Amino acid sequence: AHLAASPLLAHLNSEQLAAVTLPAGHALILAGAGSGKTRVLTTRIAWLLQNGYATPGGVLAVTFTNKAAKEMVTRLSAMLPLNVRGMWIGTFHGLCNRLLRAHHRAAGLPQAFQILDTQDQLSAVKRLCKQYAVDDERFPPKQLAYFISGCKEEGLRPGSVPAHDSDARKKTEIYQLYEEQCQREGVVDFGELMLRSHELLRDNAAIRTHYQQRFAHILVDEFQDTSKLQYAWLKQFAGDTVDGRLQARGSVIAVGDDDQSIYAFRGARVGNMTDFVREFDVRQQIKLEQNYRSHSNILDSANALISHNSQRLGKNLRTVQGPGEPVRVYEAETDTQEARWMVEEIGQLVQHNGFERMEIAVLYRSNAQSRVIESALFNAGMPYRVYGGLRFFERAEIKHALAYLRLLENPHDDTSFLRVLNFPPRGIGARSVELLQDTARTAGCSLHDGVGAVAGKAGANLAAFVAMVRALRAQTQGLSLREIVEQMLESTGLVEHFRSEKEGADRIENLQELVNAAESFVMQEGLGRDAVALPTQSPASQGLDPDSPAPDEPPARMPDGDTGETLSPLAAFLSHAALEAGDNQARTGQDAVQLMTVHASKGLEFDGVFIGGMEEGLFPHENSANARDALEEERRLMYVAITRARKRLYLSRAHTRLLHGKTRYNAPSRFFDELPEGALKWITSRPRGWGIPDSGALNGYSSSAKDPFGFQSKTPSSPPAVLQEAAPAQGLRAGMAVFHNRFGEGRVLSVEGRGDDARTQVHFPRHGTKWLVLSIAKLTVV
Ligand code: ATP
Ligand code: MG
Repeated sequence: AHLAASPLLAHLNSEQLAAVTLPAGHALILAGAGSGKTRVLTTRIAWLLQNGYATPGGVLAVTFTNKAAKEMVTRLSAMLPLNVRGMWIGTFHGLCNRLLRAHHRAAGLPQAFQILDTQDQLSAVKRLCKQYAVDDERFPPKQLAYFISGCKEEGLRPGSVPAHDSDARKKTEIYQLYEEQCQREGVVDFGELMLRSHELLRDNAAIRTHYQQRFAHILVDEFQDTSKLQYAWLKQFAGDTVDGRLQARGSVIAVGDDDQSIYAFRGARVGNMTDFVREFDVRQQIKLEQNYRSHSNILDSANALISHNSQRLGKNLRTVQGPGEPVRVYEAETDTQEARWMVEEIGQLVQHNGFERMEIAVLYRSNAQSRVIESALFNAGMPYRVYGGLRFFERAEIKHALAYLRLLENPHDDTSFLRVLNFPPRGIGARSVELLQDTARTAGCSLHDGVGAVAGKAGANLAAFVAMVRALRAQTQGLSLREIVEQMLESTGLVEHFRSEKEGADRIENLQELVNAAESFVMQEGLGRDAVALPTQSPASQGLDPDSPAPDEPPARMPDGDTGETLSPLAAFLSHAALEAGDNQARTGQDAVQLMTVHASKGLEFDGVFIGGMEEGLFPHENSANARDALEEERRLMYVAITRARKRLYLSRAHTRLLHGKTRYNAPSRFFDELPEGALKWITSRPRGWGIPDSGALNGYSSSAKDPFGFQSKTPSSPPAVLQEAAPAQGLRAGMAVFHNRFGEGRVLSVEGRGDDARTQVHFPRHGTKWLVLSIAKLTVV
């Protein structure tokens, strides 16, 4: 009882309380969406710190996104009078970055190593292929990049990749060359961050032991989506494996929901859950069964849907909230109309139901769907924000600016060197670049170092570029990060260049935003020249100081007692730019509608959620058509989407959709059939806009597109003459209830045409809206 007296624990239910106050030891918390898993995790950390069971330096917490990590730190700061800023809370990649910076020498990396994002990785592979004249028909660079990432995920270095045939040998050879290139340039890709830090711990007993003793408490959110390598990485922190048995000390708590495992395509392995229970000899398993997020119509829909999956660990979810509003289903003629409807509905929610825009999310299965929605929002003047589209740091002009900054840190970064060598244009042609690349390859040096060996006019131009970068480096010595960025924008002529470009205003604005981003990064990280270090709580009486620097590492400068050398604010900012997952775009703070893929919505919640494109081939995705496992993953994805909603959920689909340059006529998603009818409300399409396709979207109506049921998969291309209620065919009129052999009961929406051509649009609650040819379809009036 005295436990619950603490305000920290006041609102927890008994299972949550048990999870938060678990005694030391390993535990698995397996629970459905919205049951408070993340909240339990955060509260447990606070509870451990507050009661002196842990120090800020003794906790390692892995979250799924940077946003989640930030939120956790913010919440902890609010709960506790401690400096929690420097705590090891972050994503796998973020934490790997931190580890490698602290032990860069042991890891064989330059301290200011740069991080390649997926885009950079691909261009590095492309460059390599070109250099070694790899046949890109037989070995497309994208596939090679995928192959390399796959090997790293499997923990395989080129030397240990099983190469059975000549193709595999060739790919492995390229992998080897790629590794050498990265090493030479001092860059690491995302897979390398994971693998390199795993190897660092595996091969350095002193470092490993240090962290094992330091992190008495390890907590992992969204455990169902960890990959094999990530799990192996965690085990290194937990303890040594002796005679095949893991001697895991301390306390590892994994939190997850098997029904929300949606990253199998990226190597996620639900099997980690069962392995975890076995290998850590987990005695404590807690289930949370109360959902605090959603009204019951929403929750019932999620439960009914996911019950169609066969591969489940099994758990229940109930809510104490009332049924709330029904789940609304809308069927549009076209994707454009669907988007327009969404915007209208969002407007209503904001104006009449007191919803905040930022509490409304539009989710979609594929990124390509966002364009139409964005343009509808834009036309309506409704502020919105897209997560995970082209991230701020991925825009071309920002990439250029970052490349200059990276060269200041490391002139041997060839990817950056090539990106800006002739940007803004300074008369360095493709021939000169080739010449330089050849020279550098022969000499086995970076492009930067190869410049001196190029003769003639080409050589002079190249030398001028190198001198410019060198001068900039000298000019920016001792400047603040903000000043460095400003100076770079000016000296390199980037801003000047865009000023002369027609569409350049936007880009200049973004570059300006980069200055702001640098500024706020410094503030957030406390890197300012006048930053005052807050004292961390003194370590618990364990004899050993868990916050002391790791062996072989010089003393720390960072205020949190972190290990590692001083990393320049610029280097820190550059890794932030590479790692930040787009969930913290510049220009935040505005009350804007949130747009994102279902994948990106994991762990988040909103008052209102729209899920568009509920069509076969789109959601479930067509790639899943013939594989049960893939279909089950689609269903889990749908489960994630539905469970993001607190109060209002909208599902929609369009009869025709322009996607990837093609018009598609999609049947309604099978998921509609798996939702409880009682929780749904089908919104009847409004007459206006019916059958008026976007110009050029339809190829014309073909009367041969009939099936034996009289079902036409195509919509007439000529707009039906509004509603032809006045011209009844076979006595049918809009509003009548009818019965169809295949689709069951439905309601007539409209009738048009005469004689053999007469057709009707009928809405069937379970199958959506169909156009039927009356002379063929057997319709009876009920
Ligand atoms: P997901 O599976 O989607 O990640 P989750 O299990 O992590 O969900 P949380 O995000 O932690 O769930 O919690 C869902 C919502 O319920 C949050 O708004 C949280 O603050 C709220 N919540 C959790 N537990 C309680 C509680 N005991 N009392 C009131 N609200 C709670
Ligand atoms: Mg969560």
